Amino acid sequence: MPRTRNAGFEITIPEKACTDKKCPFHGNLKTRGRQFTGKVVSEKMQHTVVVEWEGWRYIPKYERYRRTRTRLLAHNTPCINAAEGDMVLIAECRPLSKTKNFVVLKVLGKLEKYALEKEAMEEAKHKAKAAEIENLAKQETKSKEKGE
Ligand SMILES: [Zn+2]
Repeated sequence: MPRTRNAGFEITIPEKACTDKKCPFHGNLKTRGRQFTGKVVSEKMQHTVVVEWEGWRYIPKYERYRRTRTRLLAHNTPCINAAEGDMVLIAECRPLSKTKNFVVLKVLGKLEKYALEKEAMEEAKHKAKAAEIENLAKQETKSKEKGE
C-alpha cells in the first residue's frame, strides 16, 4: 500500500491508490501557488488533460467587458482519472513538462449536472419575476376598477 498525503489541502483523498510519482496524494509532488476550477475539454494526451474556464476582462478604452478564455494543461493521475466534461479543481505545482505546471486535485462533478442546476436556478428566477409582474398587473387592474 503506497503512502498517502493530503496534498496540503482540506480535500478528500482519492479512494483508489496509484503508483504515479507525480501524484499529489501517493507520489512526491508538492503543490503551491494558484488554484483554479475549470472544465476538462480534452483527455487525449497521456496522463494530461486540458482544463478551460471563461472570465470577463474590463477594457477601459471601450468601457466594456470582453470574454476571456484560459486553457491550461494539468496532470491527470490514475487515482483521480478526470474525464472530458468534468469540472475539476487544479493546483499549481513544479513544472512537470515543458508546458504542464498544474495537477488535478479533485473531480467536482459532471459539467452536465452543473449546467442543469444552473438552468433550474435561472428558470426559478424567471418564474419568480413572472409572478411578480402578474401581481403588479393585477394590482393595477384593481386600482383601475376602483377608480372607475
Ligand atoms: Zn494517486
